[in-house]
Order: sequence, then structure tokens, then C-alpha cells
Amino acid sequence: MLEIKNLHVKLEDEDKQILKGVDLTVEAGKVHAIMGPNGSGKSTLSYVLSGKDGYEVTEGSATLEGIDLLDLEAEERAAAGLFLAFQYPVEIPGVGNMTFLRTAVNAQRKARGEEEMSAAEFLKVVRARAKDLKIDAEMLKRPVNVGFSGGEKKRNEILQMAMLEPKMCILDETDSGLDVDAMKLVADGVNALRSEGRGFLVITHYQRLLDHIKPDVVHIMAGGRIIKTGGPELALEVEQNGYTDLMSEVA
Ligand code: ADP
Ligand code: MG
Ligand code: MG
Repeated sequence: MLEIKNLHVKLEDEDKQILKGVDLTVEAGKVHAIMGPNGSGKSTLSYVLSGKDGYEVTEGSATLEGIDLLDLEAEERAAAGLFLAFQYPVEIPGVGNMTFLRTAVNAQRKARGEEEMSAAEFLKVVRARAKDLKIDAEMLKRPVNVGFSGGEKKRNEILQMAMLEPKMCILDETDSGLDVDAMKLVADGVNALRSEGRGFLVITHYQRLLDHIKPDVVHIMAGGRIIKTGGPELALEVEQNGYTDLMSEVA
């Protein structure tokens, strides 16, 4: 599904290397988690995959089902089936949440050569999925994320994900700033989307999210590289011993 090979990334305006050779393959139907200390390059990886400006790939490749992602515009990557739930969801004043979602869904359908969703069908689907995520109907009418609480923003990211039905979902610290109940809602939302044809990359600083979204594979990232890969037990090990032990062990 997602194949990253020897990815090296630097800041565009500065001589600062952030990713220093990331290798990662996420198979369809699998959930991979990336954990790691702050500043290790986790968000940078997700930004570069989704096509955010400001970064320069100096070496390596990233493909989705064999399609070269790095060659595509951000919206083309989305149309190819990539979705990123942001660590810090952006507010979009003046754009209604519902309008935003419908425009995104239909743009993606168009890019895939599928028919647009009718207004009636869209309403039905969005209401049902919002209800599952305990997102108030009122929130669907408000401008995207404006005045939403931290938890509401994160749940809104999952609603976008549910509506777009991506092939590859990347969640960047979707659990940060959430209380346990909100985190469970997010995890339930993600678990409901798990399927054979869909891969997940769940980025998290803490192990607790992985109690609710059970990963198949856990990677530890530090200093712009994946320094260790293992099963779910690796997350527990990090939780117990911290990153410092692991980093010195690898060093
Ligand atoms: P993580 O998500 O693992 O906490 P980040 O990808 O956010 O790590 O950051 C990795 C490193 O790159 C940090 O040292 C961070 O300060 C730096 N960095 C990332 N983006 C930028 C940027 N746009 N400008 C300056 N430094 C950046
Ligand atoms: Mg960070
Ligand atoms: Mg980050």
C-alpha cells in the first residue's frame, strides 16, 4: 500500500536535514504505529507524504499502490487515496463544515471518475457518521474547526476521514490533548474504518492510544530515522522504560 524507501528530507529554506533515511512499508489491512520523542521527525514525515510546502526531498521515494506520491500535488495525493489527520487541525473561517466536506468528497469522487454524491445522500451519510463520532449537527453548520474544542477538532478530522474513505490514513498525534472519553471516540471511529483494503499509520507520542487502536507493527523514530521495529509489545516497552533507554541501546 504505502512504501517509503530511504527518504531524506530537509527544510526548503534552511540547511536543516530532518529525515535521514526513512524506510517503511505499510501493507493493506494493517495498522502501523510510529512512536518517538518530540522533534524526531514524525510530523515532518506525514507532511512530506501529504505534500505540504516548505520541505525538500533530497533522496529516496514514497509510493502509494505503486504511484509516486512525491510527484503529485497535494490534492492529487488525496485523490489517490491518501488522508492525513493533522496534529493541529486548521480553522477555516467562512467555510461551513458541511460545505467543506461535501466539496472534498465530490472533488475526490470526480478525480476517481465516480459520480457525485447527491445532496440528499450526502446529508444522510454525514449525519450518521457525525452521530457515531458524537459530533453535534450544529457543528456541521459552523465554519470548519472555528471555535471547536481540541477534542471536537480531532473528532472532526476523523469525520473527514470517514467521509473520504481513503486507502491510506495517516493520523498525526490525533490523541494529543484528548481526555480518555474523547480518545475512545476517536479510536472507535478509526477502528470502524479498519478494513482489508485500507492501511493506517498512527503517529503517537504516548502508548495509551494503542490500547484502543491495536497496531500490527510498531516503529520507533528518533533523529529522523526509524531506529527499531517490533510488535505491539514494543509500545509497552517504551511506555515503561522511556525513549532514552531505547536510544542508547540502539546507539
Ligand atoms: P515530531 O513530530 O516528531 O515532534 P517534527 O517533524 O515536528 O517532529 O520536527 C522534527 C524537527 O524538525 C524538529 O527539530 C523541528 O523543530 C524541525 N522542524 C520541522 N519543521 C520545521 C520548520 N518548518 N521550520 C523549522 N524547523 C522545523
Ligand atoms: Mg512534536
Ligand atoms: Mg509531531
